[in-house]
Order: sequence, then structure tokens, then C-alpha cells
Amino acid sequence: MNPVTKAKDFRVNLAQHPTKRYTRRPLEVITHLAVHHSLTTSGSAKAFANYHVKNNGWPGIGYHYVIEKNGTIIWCNDLDLKTYHVGKGNRYSIGVCMVGDFRSQKLETAQYEALQYVLKRLMAEFSIVNTHVLGHSEYPGYAWKECPCIDMDTVRLSLEKNEVKKAKAYRGIDYNCAKHYIFNPNVILVKPGETVMKVVSGINHLEPGDVRIQDKTLPLEKNVVEPVAIKLVNENEQIPNQVRQLVSRMRLQEYTVFTDDSKPYNLNLVGMRKDRGTVNQFDDKLFVFWKYHSIWSLREYQITTDPGLPYLQDPLNPAGTAVLKEGQYRGAYRIGKHRNKYSALVQAKPVTVYRDNDLDGMIDLSGMREQTGFFGINIHRATASGTSVHVNKWSAGCQVFSKSDQFEDFIKLCKSSASYWGNSFTYTLLSETI
Ligand SMILES: [Zn+2]
Repeated sequence: MNPVTKAKDFRVNLAQHPTKRYTRRPLEVITHLAVHHSLTTSGSAKAFANYHVKNNGWPGIGYHYVIEKNGTIIWCNDLDLKTYHVGKGNRYSIGVCMVGDFRSQKLETAQYEALQYVLKRLMAEFSIVNTHVLGHSEYPGYAWKECPCIDMDTVRLSLEKNEVKKAKAYRGIDYNCAKHYIFNPNVILVKPGETVMKVVSGINHLEPGDVRIQDKTLPLEKNVVEPVAIKLVNENEQIPNQVRQLVSRMRLQEYTVFTDDSKPYNLNLVGMRKDRGTVNQFDDKLFVFWKYHSIWSLREYQITTDPGLPYLQDPLNPAGTAVLKEGQYRGAYRIGKHRNKYSALVQAKPVTVYRDNDLDGMIDLSGMREQTGFFGINIHRATASGTSVHVNKWSAGCQVFSKSDQFEDFIKLCKSSASYWGNSFTYTLLSETI
């Protein structure tokens, strides 16, 4: 079986640091491949990503690919990202990690075949010679490292020297691909003598309708003469960067992201709280994003997630002014009337707030008391027309829009959503700084 059919594009699914990013490099500097093992008897790209982000504080997972024991290839990072895996060698190498501890474990055949497939394909794409395919411990300064603990000479021998020559063939049909598609599980190669339909239907999870072919003149049922690359419809390429980042932040915290795109307006409502240094400003954001027919849409609104100054200095509630705690509140909102006046999202289930009662006019949540319950923490607008500049009494803890037209747009989306998915909304509040 062609291992590429077992490849998965997880670039947007893995944990990412909230702020740090790997730097980009020109693809031309890539001259080496680095082979690792995970040094763990089991594991997954997801687990390694969590570890690299949470424990090491890295921007994301250190490897470009992870190969699971059953041979599944997980694509983890754009190849032009200079990730962390071989120190000074990071600049010019691509990192491939096999799940396993090969000090004690044996390399499974499926895993070894997938490794060879990845290495060959990358050698071809980047014109890398087999002497530049190195184990981690063969990189400068890493002789002490027990990685990958497989015989790299055997690996190199198994890689034909003419992979580089084949590269020209690949390049010739390089589908005008963006850099992300240099190695793309969503691109399938049809070899001379095969038909497009045969190859496509041979891949179990694909229907002909899932295939987007660059060359519209290509006959689907006739044998091709020259190799042809067909590109599969891949939702990931259509994810706006901002959505990618929000989704990855949400997944890092194990929050639900609504992705059922069978009906329109399956909304994700995500507040992003800026640092708490400034009060009384509408300096936070509310993102609304949803997927329909594989295409993501995104709206960004200016809001405050924090109460205004007057209430911080003089709380309505003797326990202190409510500040909504970061978290995901499943189904906690519905369309109702804010103060019995106009349509807004009103609280329908308990939420958790901090109580700020030190009356210093600042928001400092360390050591604050938490309360969970019904506090009328709604999502509504400030001024009925135009823009409100200061929060003041517009918020005693509610999530409040500064611009009336943005709010109208928002509530319209919510109403559309309610007609398809019911009058229930999940609100997720994230912090720009964790
Ligand atoms: Zn290593």
C-alpha cells in the first residue's frame, strides 16, 4: 500500500504556544534530513506537541513529521518552519520522529517502510543526497545522544542514490503548489498507465467528488501518459490563519471546537481577553467563526470582557464586581432580551466569575474569590448607535460590544444560527496571555 494514503495533515490540530512562533526559512536552505525516535515506548504527535509546548515552552512540536508504529505519517509542521530538534542543525534540516524507544524496542516493518517513504520523498523534493540523511546523534554536538538507536548506515543504503534524479520528475509536475504542498498527503500521484479514477477510488476514504484536479482537461477514465498530480480538496488550506490559531488555542485547553459543517452557522464564539493592565477600554475581541461546506468564515468584533471603572470602584454586589473567568461555557447562552429591551445573548446556564472587591479600580485576579452561578453576565452592545469609547457603566461584568453596527451583525449571525442549531450558544473566553 502506498504509505501516503496513511498520511494525516495535523498541522492545525496540534498544540501551539499562545504567542511564540517558529521562524520561517527559505526552503532552499534545507539540505539534510534528521531521524529521531521519541524515546518513549508509545506516544503520539499530539502528546509530543503538548509536551514540547507545555513542558519545554516551545512554539510547537519540534518535528516536521511523526511516524506512528503502524506506519501512519503525521505531518506536524510546515517545512519552512525552523523547528527545534537538532540544535544548530535546525536551520538546514527536516525532523522526522518515529514513535518508539529503539534502545529496547524493535522497529516495526510498517513503520520502517513509512520512514523510507518519507525520506525518499523528501530527498526527491529537496534534492538531498543519502549521505545527508542523518540520525540525531550524527549531527554536530550530539554524539552523546541515544537517538534514534537504529542503524543509519542501513537506512542510507536502502535509499537509492537516484532519488535526487527522480526529484526532477516530481518538480516538473509540481502543481504550482504553495510551499505547504511540497509534501502533501492531499496530493496524489497518478503514474503512467493508471487512470485518475482508479487511483482515487483505491483510496478508501475518497469519493471522486473529493478530488479537485488542477488540469480540467485531464480525462478521468483514460490511462495517463505522464505522471499527474491530483490535489484533493483540503479544508485545512482554506482555514484563515486567525482561525487556525484560535482552534489550536482551544484544542490546547481541550475545549470543544464546533466543526460540523452539515448546516450553516455552527458558530464558535470566542472572546479574547487582552492583558488586564488597562481598564475601561474596549480592548478585547470577540471572534465568531464557523465552517460550512468545508469553508471557514470569521468575524472579529471589538468588545470588553471586563467591567468598567465605575463598577470596579463601587461594585453593585458587596462581594465585588464580577469578572468572567476564562473558560468554555457550554450552552450557557441563548438569545433573549438584555434588560428586557433588545435582543442580545443572555446567560442561560451557570458561569464562573471572579469577585473583584478591593475597589482599587484595577483588575487583579490573583487571590480573588470565584463564584459560579447566574449573574446576568450577558453579551450585549454599548451605545445603541455609533461607537462607545469607554466602558464605564456599560459593563458590570458583561461582554459588551463598543460598536452598534458590529453588534447588529453579531446578533444577526446568532439568529441565523439559532434557526439551524437551536437557541443555545457556547461561549469560550480565552486570555491573550496565559
Ligand atoms: Zn532525537
